[in-house]
Parts: sequence; structure tokens; C-alpha cells
Amino acid sequence: MINILSKEIYNKIAAGEVVDRPYSVVKELVENAIDAEATEITVEIEGGGKKKVRVTDNGKGISKEDLPRAYLSHATSKLKSAEDLFTVATLGFRGEALASIAAVSRMKIVSKRNGENAYALSSEGGLLGEVGEAAGANGTEVTVENLFFNTPARLKFLKSDMQEEGEVSNMMARFLLSRPKIAFTYYVNGKLKYRSYGDGPESALAAVYGAGTVEKCYEISAEKHGIRIYGYLGNQNFSKSNRSYQSLFVNGRFVVNQTVAAAVTNAYGAYLMKRQYPFFVLFLDVPAEIVDVNVHPTKADVRFADNQIIYGCVYSVVSAVLDGNSKALEYLVPVKNSAVQEEIPIPRAEVGSALPDSKPIPAMTYEAAKKELSFDVSPVGGRTPAPRLFVENEPFTMKVSAPKPDKTERDAFEENRAFLLEKEKKQQEKIDPATLVYKGELFKTYLIYEIGDDAYFIDQHAAHERLIYNRLVDRVSSRDVLSQPMLMPFVLSVNSEEYAFIMKQLPLLKELGFEAEEFGGTSIKISAVPLDLQRIDLDAFFGEILGSMESYNGIKIADLLKDKLASAACKAAVKGGENLTADEAKSLIAQMNGDMGLRCPHGRPVAVKMKKSELEKLFKRIV
Ligand code: ADP
Ligand code: MG
Repeated sequence: MINILSKEIYNKIAAGEVVDRPYSVVKELVENAIDAEATEITVEIEGGGKKKVRVTDNGKGISKEDLPRAYLSHATSKLKSAEDLFTVATLGFRGEALASIAAVSRMKIVSKRNGENAYALSSEGGLLGEVGEAAGANGTEVTVENLFFNTPARLKFLKSDMQEEGEVSNMMARFLLSRPKIAFTYYVNGKLKYRSYGDGPESALAAVYGAGTVEKCYEISAEKHGIRIYGYLGNQNFSKSNRSYQSLFVNGRFVVNQTVAAAVTNAYGAYLMKRQYPFFVLFLDVPAEIVDVNVHPTKADVRFADNQIIYGCVYSVVSAVLDGNSKALEYLVPVKNSAVQEEIPIPRAEVGSALPDSKPIPAMTYEAAKKELSFDVSPVGGRTPAPRLFVENEPFTMKVSAPKPDKTERDAFEENRAFLLEKEKKQQEKIDPATLVYKGELFKTYLIYEIGDDAYFIDQHAAHERLIYNRLVDRVSSRDVLSQPMLMPFVLSVNSEEYAFIMKQLPLLKELGFEAEEFGGTSIKISAVPLDLQRIDLDAFFGEILGSMESYNGIKIADLLKDKLASAACKAAVKGGENLTADEAKSLIAQMNGDMGLRCPHGRPVAVKMKKSELEKLFKRIV
């Protein structure tokens, strides 16, 4: 016998499609508030949202007659005919959310339209009560309690309160970031967690990530081929140890997208340490015809018609921002309470407008862009490494010269190095080292030099690190590494798989300056290390190599080894706090060869410039 399901049961089942967790309840309710043109939205959750979710807005409200309809499925005020489907501008339009949530919770809506009375209507598991008069301000308040109380199977499926709360909070952060004109207030268990004021993106960024964040970011705004990229990009020193500080919004929607993430990460390239991830809040506005947002309604990914266009645009914009700043950072004096209000030193890079003679953006069609960017990047080896495209730094006519991978394995490390050096050459701030006058040292860390009306502070550690790095990569690439015998040989004991792996790499390790040999069983004796890496922590070094052993498949091992060697330069460099003799300081600056735009291999600046006039401002000699 075929049963016709009752409306209640049908809604209970359908609810799972729209709401599967507390965060989807919050999402639907907040989206409704946004659709109702609210400028202030308050979200409160308790018990990870399982116990209670309340969303209050100052939007246009629901009339007394509409109140019961809001609970019906397929009931929406946002769509009237099938044609509207193509023009719908609201976030919701299916009319499913409230009905679905109501079916699996105790829900109450209090709403008031401007000039009308406030009315309330409650439901329990989808069974409606009566509309009654209520008190309230203009707008709507939806309270959802005891989510899934009548569907124990779903309830069991939920994660802990903490985890559910975390997901709601992440989503709230995205709302704050993507809707900077709305004032959001967000409480967790009665405690204020986020508050934004609806006064713009900078303030929203501060609300989510803290007040200091904006100063560590570049604000970008660029447009290429009809693709607009804007938002905030952490500077070279502001990176995170995981990807959760990366927010991407494509046409206003939060998404996680590999192409864009890879483009940003690669643009940072040598600025980042291993396992460090750039911070970003990026908005990509792309023509609707080149993006498919409906990969999956609840999964946050998008598909682009052509990933290479997107990759190229994002990569070129981000690297232009990062590299355009590679001259010595200028010390800026923030003037507080002064008649002359100076700009706070937020590094900004308006890519489009800051570039010389910014012409109106030529209407570049997608097809034309595609032609211009036509090259092929084929995966090296079995894996699919992120394509490394070297995009020339031109504002509106983006030329891409991607090295065509030939049959032999590409030396990606070499390519990157050459690329970075080339770029650095273009932008470096060269001064004649002979004109630098050494003035002493501060805090055993910073060397002070005077040149004309400028003072330079040089971070001796960063400088040394960078010089070691340069020397090292030079030697490594010319296979001209000097070895330093160790006083006490180091014995590496590994399992048989790791042993086989290391043994295979022995010739290479030797070329790189290690002296290594079998030591019985599955042990390997290291008796000499590269001269520049005398202080290397061998345990950590080999641990790192072995830790990512499986991922070496198909990738040229030398690249990784060289890369590791280079990053180990840091450990070999003089630390801040170590005394340098005047002679050592002199030799350091001589080796820098007047290049004040250098950065350490982690992207920190080596030199910071302070103008005489800045100092005079501090002393109020000039204003
Ligand atoms: P949809 O958003 O797809 O239309 P919902 O089930 O989310 O469907 O909401 C049903 C209807 O209830 C909406 O179309 C809207 O008319 C009304 N509504 C819901 N939330 C609000 C709100 N916060 N303010 C004003 N109207 C609302
Ligand atoms: Mg809705």
C-alpha cells in the first residue's frame, strides 16, 4: 500500500535537506533578515545552537496575514512567477527554510511592520498555534528552540556543542565580512562574541579578527578582464599556521576554492615559511557566465569555466601587491591628536589606480582574456602540483609567459629563484654601500646607518639569513657545496622503508654537502654537513624530509631538499641579540651590496628606512 505522507511528516523529512545543523538554521534566518533589508541583525545562540537560536532584525517585517504563510513550505514573498527565477536577487526564494526549521523545532516569530502592530505566532514540530498580538520594535525576531527534538536520529548526528558553536561562529564571521554595511551583533551563551557597526569593511575586519589586523593587511582593489578582486591580504609577515584564516567570497558567496587558494599561496611564494598560510579576505566578482556556483547547494565551492584565467588574475594581482612593496619599508610617524591628521600607516595597494596612468579598464572579453592566457600547464609527475604561472606585472593587459614544461622534469626551484631574483632586481632599492655611514647598533639587533637625509635600520638576523640563503642556493644550484665534518657524527635510526628512501637519496645528499653512510641495520651515519649549515638540527631536518616522504612521489626530490636547506638558513644566521663586532657589521652590509629592498627568506624586511623629516616631526621641529 502506498501511503500519502502527512504534511508534518513530509516537512520533517524535507527539513534535512535545508537544515542539517544549527549553523544552517542560523544561515537561513540571517539570510531572511538580509532579504528583508535589515541594517541591524542580532544573532544569539545557546548550547551550540541546539538549545536556542534567535535572530532579530530591523527589516521590513511580516504582516499579520502573512505570518502563518511564512511557516508553509513553498511559501515565499520573493518569487511570483517562473520568470522571476532568472532575475531573483534575494538569497532565499524557495520558501522552504522556515517550514523546514519549524518542522523540527519549537519556533516563534514575532514581527512588526512599520506602522502596524506586532504579532507573534509559535509552532511546535510544525504545528501552528494562533496569531496573537505582541510587543516589539519594527522588524522580525525568530526564535528556534530545541532543534531536532522530534527527530532523535538527527539530533544524535550533531556534533558537540563546542563544535556546532564553532561552525556557527565561523559562519557569522563570514556574514560580518561579506556584509560590511550591516551592523551585526552575535552572542554565544549570553556572551558577546562579534559586533560590527555596519560602517564598512575595515571595521568588519577588525570586528572579526581584532583591531590590529587591518594594519597587517594590504587593502586591494583591482580589476582585470572584467574580474574584480578586492579585499584584504595579510602582509608578508602576517601568516597563519592553517588555512582557516582564508576567506573567499565569489560574487558575494563564501566559497572554498582550490584554484584561488593556490594562486594566492603561490604568489606569496618565498615570502612564506613552510606550512604557513597567508591570511586573506578576498572578494572576487566574476561575470555570472564564467562561474557555476551550484556545484552543490550546501557545499561551499564554485566551478569556474576556466581555472587558468582565475588563477592568472588572482596570482598577478596578489604578487603585484606583495612585490610592489619590496623596497625598504618606510617608517611612518602616526600623529595622534595633532592638527594635521596624518594617515595611519596601513599598507595599501590599490593595484588598479596606483599604477602609472591608469586608463579606464578596456572592456576585455572573456574570450580575449582566454586567448591571451593560453598556455598549458601540465602536471609534473603523477601528482597535480599547483600550476606556477609567472605573470608579468602589468595592470590591465595581462601577459602571461608561462615556461612551457618540456619532457624532462622542470627544475621548479630554479625557476622560482630566477623569477624572484628577476622581480627583486626590478624593484630593489639600491644605494651605494660606500655612502652608508655606520652609526652603531641598537638592542644588539639593529644596525643603524646614515645616508644623506635617511637613516636605515638593518635587522642583522634577517640580513644574515637572507645572505646565507642567497649563498646557499647559489652553491646548491652549482653543486659547489663545502662540507664541514662534525665533531660527533649523527646517527639516524629509521624504519626500513625510510632507510630505503634515504639510501636512494645518498648521492644527492652528498652533492648537497652531507657525508652520509650505512651504519648497520637501518641506521645511517651523518659525519659531515654543508658548511653553511653547521648548526642544522639534523633530527628535525630528516624528520621533515621523512615526514613528507610519500608526497615526494613524482616530484623532484632535489627541489625539496634544496628548499629545506634554504629554509634552514635561518637557523644558521646570527640571531638578534648576538653581538656583532663592528667589522662583522661592516662585512654584513658590504655583502648586502647596498640592496635595501631585501627580505629574509621568510619575507620579513631586512631594512627599514626612516627619513630625517620623520624624526623632526616627532620632535615637532616641523609639522
Ligand atoms: P524564502 O526565504 O525562500 O522566501 P523562507 O521559508 O526562508 O523562504 O521564508 C518565507 C517567507 O517568510 C519569506 O519569503 C518572507 O516573506 C518571510 N520572512 C521570513 N523571514 C523574514 C524576516 N526576517 N523578515 C521579513 N520577512 C521574512
Ligand atoms: Mg529564506
